[in-house]
Amino acid sequence: MEEKLNVLDIVRDQIKTVCGKLGLEPVVYELLKEPVRFHEVTFPVRMDDGSIRVFKGYRSQHNDAMGPTKGGIRFHPDVYADEVKALSMWMTFKCATLGLPYGGAKGGLIVNTKELSQGELERVSRGFIRALAPYVGPEKDIPAPDMYTTPQIMAWMMDEYDKIKGYPNPGMITGKPIAVGGSLGRSSATSRGCLFVAREAARKLGFDVKGARVVIQGFGNVGGFAAELFAEAGTKVIAIADTKGCAYDADGLDIKALEAYKKEHGSVAGFGAANLSKEEMFALECDILVPAAMENQITPEIAKNIKAKLIAEAANGPTTPEADKIINERGILVLPDILANAGGVTVSYFEWVQNLQNYYWTEEEVNAKLEVKMVQAFNDVWAMHEKYNVSMRDAAYMTAIDKVARAMKLRGWY
Ligand code: NAD
Repeated sequence: MEEKLNVLDIVRDQIKTVCGKLGLEPVVYELLKEPVRFHEVTFPVRMDDGSIRVFKGYRSQHNDAMGPTKGGIRFHPDVYADEVKALSMWMTFKCATLGLPYGGAKGGLIVNTKELSQGELERVSRGFIRALAPYVGPEKDIPAPDMYTTPQIMAWMMDEYDKIKGYPNPGMITGKPIAVGGSLGRSSATSRGCLFVAREAARKLGFDVKGARVVIQGFGNVGGFAAELFAEAGTKVIAIADTKGCAYDADGLDIKALEAYKKEHGSVAGFGAANLSKEEMFALECDILVPAAMENQITPEIAKNIKAKLIAEAANGPTTPEADKIINERGILVLPDILANAGGVTVSYFEWVQNLQNYYWTEEEVNAKLEVKMVQAFNDVWAMHEKYNVSMRDAAYMTAIDKVARAMKLRGWY
């Protein structure tokens, strides 16, 4: 039977299970299963040919008990309301796991950016933030990039918001280019954070990342930096996949050469000793597996054959719930997405802090502060994992929901 994969159902199931394990009052689940605010907006944009197109987008603000809400904006033709709600819930738990003073949010606009000219993309981006302007802001809700949105788009959105307000508001959005208030270290932060927690987990499992064999699915922003940073840390990156294939070399891939190859050929396929299928790649003998492509990649069939000791979920939702059960039964340690890829939102938080105080840090300072946050979060989740004898995924949700529930209780919400 095909596994049911409605993301909102999945995240609600996770919340319910965890509320039960923590013995929380039923009202906590009632409060967390919906966003506190959900905005649906439509706005017109003049296209290059003179016609007007009306766009529809959403912004879900899930929970603001811990602080202003925070989360990316995604531009995708398949965006739908339930997905945006689910993604905003994950952001609440990701921020809480890391101890960031934020709740979760997410935005989505129904658009295929590949069909737009640069000028149209700019007008659409400005139009969306104009429509959302009453609901976002540095002390209210702070967007960031997500799928098919870029630092350039963040700069346009900030500029539009500043025009509405009449003064600069660099802290209203993160993931900006450095020249307009972005943070050093942001672009590699997700991958660097993933490496920090993988290193801590490897130690607990009795091996060192130095000399370990790593397999990475995805060679975009996250997978690309992960490959570089894991290689710098002395691991052997033996396989890297993109949508067109998987470069494999048992002796370790030369990452710089692979980057150059991908630039020339548009894919990693054909580089190294062999080109593997997705199934072959996931079944490789290795120590660490880093899914860094997209959701629902590790299915039950794939989970049965994984040989890694550790999976660090750099992508959001790469493992289906059924596959997750199989992996747990097989005793493979999983660092869940809300921990393993939280380096990105953590440095977004640092960007916001720098914007609010108008004082900017060096890249070394950013990386050092990121390491402190990631290691602390890993230790908190590990302690929960040991105390309750649950998976790291359940432990991360328990750590997060415990914090949010306490904040809601102290505010008198229940
Ligand atoms: P990206 O678009 O830059 O890269 C995605 C990569 O995955 C590309 O190399 C693509 O070829 C590959 N890919 C896509 N489908 C694939 C498939 N079926 N098989 C093999 N490879 C495939 O995106 P990104 O920013 O690197 O994000 C990757 C994942 O990490 C997403 O799940 C995203 O939500 C998550 N994430 C990203 C950040 C961030 O800071 N960029 C932060 C947190 C989580």
